[in-house]
Amino acid sequence: MIATAVSPASKVTRNEGLKSSHPALGGTIAQTLANPELDHFTEDDYEFLKFHGVYQQDDRDKRKAGRQWIFMVRTKFPGGVLGAKQYAACDDLASRYGNNTLRITTRQDFQFHGIIKSGLRQTIKGLNDALVTTIAACGDVERNVMAPPTPATSSLVDHVLEQARELSDALNPATRAYHKIWIEGQELNLNDDTNKDFVDPLYGRVYLPRKFKTAFAIPPLNDIDIFTNDLGFIVIAEGEKLLGYNLLAGGGMGMSHGNAQTFPRLADVIGFLAPEHLETAAKAVLGIHRDFGDRTNRKHARLKYVLAERGVDWCRAEVEERAGLKLEPPRPFKFTRQGDLLGWHRQTNGNYFLGLFVENGRIKDANGYRLKTGLRKVIEQFQPEVRLTPSQNILLVNVRAEQRDGIAGGLSEQGVSVGNPFTPTRLASMACPALPTCGLSLAESERIMPDLLTRIEQLLAELGLPDQEIVVRMTGCPNGCARPYVAEIGFVGKSPGKYQIYLGGNEASTRLNRLYKESVKMEDIINELRPLLIRYLRERIPGERFGDWCARALWKEQAAVAPN
Ligand code: SF4
Repeated sequence: MIATAVSPASKVTRNEGLKSSHPALGGTIAQTLANPELDHFTEDDYEFLKFHGVYQQDDRDKRKAGRQWIFMVRTKFPGGVLGAKQYAACDDLASRYGNNTLRITTRQDFQFHGIIKSGLRQTIKGLNDALVTTIAACGDVERNVMAPPTPATSSLVDHVLEQARELSDALNPATRAYHKIWIEGQELNLNDDTNKDFVDPLYGRVYLPRKFKTAFAIPPLNDIDIFTNDLGFIVIAEGEKLLGYNLLAGGGMGMSHGNAQTFPRLADVIGFLAPEHLETAAKAVLGIHRDFGDRTNRKHARLKYVLAERGVDWCRAEVEERAGLKLEPPRPFKFTRQGDLLGWHRQTNGNYFLGLFVENGRIKDANGYRLKTGLRKVIEQFQPEVRLTPSQNILLVNVRAEQRDGIAGGLSEQGVSVGNPFTPTRLASMACPALPTCGLSLAESERIMPDLLTRIEQLLAELGLPDQEIVVRMTGCPNGCARPYVAEIGFVGKSPGKYQIYLGGNEASTRLNRLYKESVKMEDIINELRPLLIRYLRERIPGERFGDWCARALWKEQAAVAPN
């Protein structure tokens, strides 16, 4: 008998009531879609739309003139893998219905921004026609399953990508509402028993208390930021032979300013399991979130709080009971770095892949750097497989040796160099979209990050550190979409023009950073960083990274002055 945490008498959130009253998740989306007089959906449908991979937003730059409703549509590509034809379809839809950009997310998806309601169904239908889904890309369900996309590190990559696809299918919600609304274009009969009494076989009637994120990683490369996920599988192999996985649970980045009940957390290592137990164990951990997550407070509803409050031993016992298996002690593993391999690299199968830096994941044409046009052209001509990375970059995979010059030439014609001629710090940076589209944003992020990085680059050059790699990440609010809490320098939006500064993440993304300054004006950030970098230059030990120096030198000092 599996225990659950929420008593029927607990006061659950509004979202719980919504899910319970429309368990097929259709709400009145179809009715609003069919009404050309309406330019947006109801507040209730705003919540249901998320399960369909859609965020209703408004252009915050134009809010003074009244709300101008736009939509963000997010795909789901397990492991970030898509075919050349799927890429071309996404590129077309972004041009036709979106803002003519494709945005690679930190979970290996595409986001389409700036779609207006009249183009919403065509966008989602067009994606599905290209065999791209958006269901469960957002919402209180399993999100996109991430997996290492880089085919140079291990021949196990393809196997793990296949596992990620299978697990993604196994954890998809079963509702037919998505298909009916977006593909068949049908209105749902809300009183129909199939909608009213629908119970998802995995999620139940009210789904999860909040989102749930799963990822795989293959040591020594932590390109996935595996510890930031609710559920993780670390590949344990002997040479090229997969032995099984270390199971991780309870990671997550989001927090709320001024709310000590919320915090970023790295996942715990729970135990080792054989490959055949992967799906059962995944469902067990998801079930723990479903049954023990806090349904009375969405800010405190992630699995990480269950782990923080109940502990690893409790979680292990619960997984074992639910999955009907005995977990072995975790096997040793070591991560050495995060990030992507950029430029040309040989794959383990003898072909080549090209890693291209995409600043903040935004594929666009701007200022003579026509990345969108260049990618479209070479992907159509040479038909490589496309992989989106967790660091928001793009890989063109399974390129034959004789195709390399054509790809490099096609990109060069559009001003894009396969040499990725940017500083190491820029190549290691990420920022979330924030303003003007994200409704939760407290400050700018993607739009100001390139200029901030230019100033950081100038500072590093001035100090004689032009080739220094520092992992810098920025978000417009504490939800942490760009995973700022594991960066060497993390900027988190506090209020318009002001940021928290976090310092001390490491190269392998296995350590949380710490809050250094609570609220710094954008124009003062360089002055905050300058003395730190000067000290780093003087005090570093050979080979020491900036984040490691912060953890070694600054944290000790901060602890010394912190009140008891
Ligand atoms: Fe929006 Fe905050 Fe996520 Fe940035 S981190 S995209 S501001 S929710």
